[in-house]
Amino acid sequence: MISPYLVPFDQSFDLSSSPTTPPADAPGKKALKKELKDLVDELDELQRVFYADDRFSLLLVFQAMDAAGKDSTIRSVLSGVNPQGCQVYSFKKPSKEELEHDFLWRTAKCLPERGRIGVFNRSYYEETLVVRVHPEYLQGQRIQMPENLDDLWPERYRAIREHERHLANNNTVILKFWLNVSKEEQKNRFLDRLQRPEKNWKFEAGDLTERGYWDDYMHAYQDMLNATSTEVAPWYAIPADDKPFMRKEVARIIVDKLKSLQLQYPKISSEEQAKFTQYEAQLLGEE
Ligand code: ATP
Ligand code: MG
Repeated sequence: MISPYLVPFDQSFDLSSSPTTPPADAPGKKALKKELKDLVDELDELQRVFYADDRFSLLLVFQAMDAAGKDSTIRSVLSGVNPQGCQVYSFKKPSKEELEHDFLWRTAKCLPERGRIGVFNRSYYEETLVVRVHPEYLQGQRIQMPENLDDLWPERYRAIREHERHLANNNTVILKFWLNVSKEEQKNRFLDRLQRPEKNWKFEAGDLTERGYWDDYMHAYQDMLNATSTEVAPWYAIPADDKPFMRKEVARIIVDKLKSLQLQYPKISSEEQAKFTQYEAQLLGEE
C-alpha cells in the first residue's frame, strides 16, 4: 500500500498543503500506541531475517526542524531492534576534518553494511537546507562557487540523486523521512522545554534563532523534497504535530518496505543437511 505521505516523484509536492496533523479519522492515542507496539515487534522479526539474509542494507534518513521529534521517533521505532543490527549517526556542524573533504564524505563513512539498519539523524541534506539558509557556511568549505549561488543547489541535488542511485544499485534500500511539524507546535515544544525542569537541557537559544528563518527553511525544504524524492530513495512528509501518529506512520512505512523485499533465512545445501543429521546423531549419542 502506498503511503499517502509519499512525496511524489514528479515535482508536484506542495509543502504548504502538506498536513502537519493526522487525518480526522486517525485512531486515538491508545490505539496508535498499540499499533506502534505491534509494528515494533514485527520490525524486530523482520530485522532478524534481514540480518541473516545479508543481501541488503537499510538506510533511514531523518530531517526536520528543531523539536519535530527526530530523536524520539528514532528511539521508539527502533526500540525493539537488536542493537547489534542497527547503527544511529547524528550529523552536526561539520568538524575541521570533515571540511577537508567533499560534502558526502562524512556520511559515506557511516553507511550501513549489508544486513544492517543505518539511521542518519540529519544528513548530507543539511547541505541544501541549513547551508542554503546560511550561505556563509560555504566559506568554510572552500569549494568552487558557481557565478550565481542559485546554481549551487540544483548541482547538489544532482550529486545527491546520483549518490543515492549508486547506493540503491548496490542493494542499499533507502527511506527518507521529513517530520513536518507546524510553526505553532514548535513554539509549544520550545515553551515546554523552557518551562519543565527535566526538559531545560534540551533548550538551545540557537534553536530560537533558526526559528526566525522558518520561511527560508520551508522554501529550502520544498525545493529539496521535490528535487530528491525518487523511486529508489523516496521522501515521506510525515505529519509531526502528533507524536504517536508520526511514530506509527514511520514504523508502518519501514515494515511495509522490509516485507516487500521477500527476505529469507539462508537455505542450507543437501550436503550440509546430511552433515547436520550426522552432528545431530553425534550429540544425541553422547553419554
Ligand atoms: P538535538 O535534538 O540534540 O538538538 P540536533 O540534531 O538539533 O539535536 P544540535 O547539535 O542541536 O543537534 O544541532 C546540530 C546543528 O548542526 C543543526 O543546527 C544543523 O542544522 C547543523 N548542521 C548539520 N549539518 C550541517 C552542515 N553540513 N553544515 C552546517 N550545519 C550543519
Ligand atoms: Mg538542536
